[in-house]
Amino acid sequence: MSALLEVKGLGVRYDAPRILPFAARHGVDAVLDVSFDILAGSTFALVGESGSGKSTLGRAVMGLAPFRAGQIKIAGAAMPSGGDASLVLWRRQMAMMFQDAIASLSPRLTVRSLVTEPFDIHGFRQGLRARDREAECRRLLALVGLPADFAERYPHQLSGGQARRVGVARALALSPRLIIADEPTAGLDVSVQGEILNLLRRLQDELGLTYLLISHNLAVVRHVSDRMAIMYMGRFVEMGDTAEIYADPAHPYTHGLLAAQPEIDPDKRREDVELMGEVPSLAARPSGCEFHTRCPRAQPLCTEQAPDDRNIGQRVARCHFPLVS
Ligand code: SF4
Repeated sequence: MSALLEVKGLGVRYDAPRILPFAARHGVDAVLDVSFDILAGSTFALVGESGSGKSTLGRAVMGLAPFRAGQIKIAGAAMPSGGDASLVLWRRQMAMMFQDAIASLSPRLTVRSLVTEPFDIHGFRQGLRARDREAECRRLLALVGLPADFAERYPHQLSGGQARRVGVARALALSPRLIIADEPTAGLDVSVQGEILNLLRRLQDELGLTYLLISHNLAVVRHVSDRMAIMYMGRFVEMGDTAEIYADPAHPYTHGLLAAQPEIDPDKRREDVELMGEVPSLAARPSGCEFHTRCPRAQPLCTEQAPDDRNIGQRVARCHFPLVS
């Protein structure tokens, strides 16, 4: 299998508001020096607390958050610079499923318009003729397991799970190769979450899709991803095979996140390692290891020197004193 998506040294910086102290006015780094590949047909998950930069990274891959450093390639082709037609064509290879299933659907449009709108937005054959639009709508609704008569409905007439299916159909409209799924099960009942995850898995098998999954739900990540990265203050602190990381986390932050998850099997319950305090402000990054203000294993070295990426088997962890060597 070859890499469908390649990200090298990506950095995203937002302009800072003028009310910030002078030292912070150069901007706020939401994503810093991030590199990863996603193999075609596989699922890669981004995990982290709110504000860790995972959604910004997903948006940057889509070209929706301007990045100041790094390179993004899809199927070996680098993102074209400038906003011309080549960028539109390049971007057509991927699609994004946004977080809030119902809010992300325009309330004034029918399901038919919603799922076929991407053809209009991308100037595809100057939009679709009415007969083609009907055929595309039926095809897309069938793909996501919705009856054809749902085409007449409006978003307020859909349940959360049905709205999420419409969001998936809309993402599939232009036959992308990569889907960026931002919190695909947020706000859904557990049983409906399972249905949506099974749908995504089935579509991956049938259409050979590649997923970049963004989630703070570790149970979902464990269920569906092949590889994962844990983000803290815009950096990857651990990256590797999902099963390996769940079995034996190397970074204290990963360990803390996993320990905070309810574990159904008491034999697998982890030693309780509570994450202390809050995530510091991105405008005032701590010295040395940026996690030292919350880390139960912090040593004097951690406050003085930033750790480098350390290879641990097939994994990479950014820590002076990892839990696995
Ligand atoms: Fe904790 Fe030190 Fe490792 Fe940072 S480098 S995660 S502070 S042990």
